[in-house]
Amino acid sequence: MTTGSCLCGAVHFIVTGPLRPVIACHCSQCRKTSGHHVAATSARRDRIAVTGEVTWFQSSATARRGFCATCGSNLFWDGAGENLSIFAGSLDGATGLKIAGHIFCADKGDYYEIPKGVPQAEGYDPALTTMVVD
Ligand SMILES: [Zn+2]
Ligand SMILES: [Zn+2]
Repeated sequence: MTTGSCLCGAVHFIVTGPLRPVIACHCSQCRKTSGHHVAATSARRDRIAVTGEVTWFQSSATARRGFCATCGSNLFWDGAGENLSIFAGSLDGATGLKIAGHIFCADKGDYYEIPKGVPQAEGYDPALTTMVVD
């Protein structure tokens, strides 16, 4: 079981299923919303229980982003499919997770380098983002 929350504590969540390895996304939307790039795990929606109010922003035709309206913490990315992405920084304590890949590398900022050693995709890469869990 994994727990997480926003910065102010108004939103808490519990994940009872396995978590996907963390994928970093360097797209311009993720950079704008987080202030840098994001790093997200994911889990099946029916394994995530949220308490408190998540505010949703429809960031594209096919995805929305969940955040705490009080403190502004980025919490979730909600696109198509069975899984809900969870921004890894919102998880409590040791996660046992590792960054397993980078996506939208072509859109990264020019002020940092992406570490070598794990796959880097120029854009979207379903082989990375839909790594099956459970
Ligand atoms: Zn909050
Ligand atoms: Zn992104």
